[in-house]
Amino acid sequence: MRRVYMDANATTPLLPEVFEAMRPFFLEHYGNASSIHQQGQFARAAVDHARDSVARLLHCRASEIVFTSGGTESDNLALFGALPANEPAHLITSSIEHDAILRAAEALSRRNVEVTFLPSTPQGLIEPSALQAALRPNTRLVSIMFANNETGVIQPIAELASIAHAAGALFHTDAVQAAGRLPLDLSPKGPLKDIDLLTLSGHKIYAPKGIGALFVRRSVRLSPILHGGSHERQRRAGTENVAGIVALGKAAELSQQWLAQDNPTDGPTHLAALRDRLEQGILSQIEECGVNGAGAPRVANTTNIYFDHVEAEALVIALDLKGLSVSGGSACQSGATEPSHVLTAMGLTPARARASIRFSLARLTTAEEVDFALTLVPAAVARLRELSPTWRKPEPVVA
Ligand code: PLP
Repeated sequence: MRRVYMDANATTPLLPEVFEAMRPFFLEHYGNASSIHQQGQFARAAVDHARDSVARLLHCRASEIVFTSGGTESDNLALFGALPANEPAHLITSSIEHDAILRAAEALSRRNVEVTFLPSTPQGLIEPSALQAALRPNTRLVSIMFANNETGVIQPIAELASIAHAAGALFHTDAVQAAGRLPLDLSPKGPLKDIDLLTLSGHKIYAPKGIGALFVRRSVRLSPILHGGSHERQRRAGTENVAGIVALGKAAELSQQWLAQDNPTDGPTHLAALRDRLEQGILSQIEECGVNGAGAPRVANTTNIYFDHVEAEALVIALDLKGLSVSGGSACQSGATEPSHVLTAMGLTPARARASIRFSLARLTTAEEVDFALTLVPAAVARLRELSPTWRKPEPVVA
């Protein structure tokens, strides 16, 4: 059966060029990057090259990149590393963060850290005025995500970071869903100069799962959360995942090329046009549905749509059986029956949040795949609504 993948925010497919770049580091070039011999030096050179590539994507110094095991570890390293243990401090984050931040913040709140969770607007935005009002003299760190994994809504990050800095706090952003989709310029005079810490994950930019990075601005003192060897300039102990790091470097290079080719046939503009075609096609064919986060700036590949009188889980399964992979809520929370915390924080009723589906396109998604989805979704929604006790069938038109 034909399969169309529209769940790139859960994970992206590995690009063949990325796989080819990493493959020799499993069998041929297996050296430990800390070893003195030639095999070790070869691995070290590959790690250095990858670090340069990731730094180029972010417009920062290579020494400001710390390789980690992924987005979750980078988020934890940012929060625990920037807030010294046993020192009372205040952390500000938001109610729409990924669990990697929310759960880390909760753990910190059990250790002398007071945490404020900023509310979301109905569009899914964190308002700069809300951050301004929440700041306290002892606010050490502010952590607000760049783009939301469920809605794709992009936060006013430069403004939020500058407010945090003006109050003497550090600023972290989880850019897992923004990297490779939006230009990120962290240079000291660039638009994102006030960001001190930034999280990346490999498997959202067409590299494998289990590799990520944390940007740590040179001026920031960070305590390690893993204790062991002196890898990554004492910021992250553990033998480097050379193959994964090489893959992340290659994926960063390809992301930079993709972002630069922004035109109607490739790059973010092209992807946004496909997303809009999908969105418009759904909205024009189906009643009682709408886009969550409509009107707010969003990354090009994501749309989150509610279909009233439909259980998202049932719709995801119905579409899966027809060959379309999408997701209801965040994939990292699958199995949970709770409505999405992001959508409820935006003010959706639990029923509407449970009726919401995320379509997230990949760079290789085609117009033809979008049209395939457009043939499946209206029919699947209509079938499920037939079974819904709350759905009133439209009156038949009497001639
Ligand atoms: N942050 C965001 C916004 C995410 O979407 C994800 C994964 O879905 C993560 C963090 C966790 O990243 P990883 O899966 O690499 O641990």
